[in-house]
Amino acid sequence: MVVAIWADLAQGFPLDGDDDIVAIEAANGIDDMGDEDKIDLSHLGPEAYGAPSKESGDALSTWDESSPMNPEEMGEYAEGDILIPQLGRNGMRDESMRWPSGIIPYVIEGRYSQEQHDTIKKAIADYHRLTCLRFVPYNGQKDYISIQSGNTGCWSSVGRIGGRQEVNLQNPGCVSKKGTVLHELLHAVGFMHEQSRHERDDYVDVRYDNIKAGSENNFKKADAKRTNDFGVPYDYNSVMHYSEYAFSKNGRKTIEPKVGGVTLGQREGLSRGDVKKVNAMYNCHKEEPEGGWMGAVWQGFFG
Ligand SMILES: [Zn+2]
Repeated sequence: MVVAIWADLAQGFPLDGDDDIVAIEAANGIDDMGDEDKIDLSHLGPEAYGAPSKESGDALSTWDESSPMNPEEMGEYAEGDILIPQLGRNGMRDESMRWPSGIIPYVIEGRYSQEQHDTIKKAIADYHRLTCLRFVPYNGQKDYISIQSGNTGCWSSVGRIGGRQEVNLQNPGCVSKKGTVLHELLHAVGFMHEQSRHERDDYVDVRYDNIKAGSENNFKKADAKRTNDFGVPYDYNSVMHYSEYAFSKNGRKTIEPKVGGVTLGQREGLSRGDVKKVNAMYNCHKEEPEGGWMGAVWQGFFG
């Protein structure tokens, strides 16, 4: 039965029902998460809550692949690309949730070329290959992700907020690099930016003199007591790390590593640390790929 389900998933067929979900839970190596499935959103502050903005889309329309910054660093949202819908008139969420058993129903509703569609699918395939997360075709589930292509930039909520939640991947802009798709999906999975870690000042220097006026908030640090690094050290290679020119007002670096020989802001693939953190958050016992050229390439480039 499990084999049949994997075949269904691989071919994009909808799942048949609860029996399938139970079988996936057993097959993907995820333990019951119990009460540990909350994600603290408090360090994001009030600017994380609001509505999609056309200004962010207009800013992104000037981006191309020769830009020194990443497209998700061009939005006017919290930290550039975090947007959580407001609850009621003034309500803010102070937490969101993990996805039960790591199963994330999704539907691609934006308009993309075949190549861009393939880029999104490759990002999802990376999660399936390296983690226990399973993006399954939306089939009426209560909580799910809708991937949209509105002219409002690249953005996502953090974690599962309940009901339909959008991940916006503006076209063109957010679907040029697989890493941008991986990045926005990793927010939806439940992760923040790497450089907002509480101990980041031990690893990078933030150059406030070079940051655009009004964007200083994007470089806030999280509270040590409220975040969980899952035992993974600070990771310059994370797909969740800003580039060195994020929110620069003058073409100079806004964030610099304290050590030589590292590049910030790669958007080629999940780093080894990214994979470890996802699998730790979701109690996944999947082993790191070792043999074969796939494992070698992944570890060689992003190790
Ligand atoms: Zn981001």
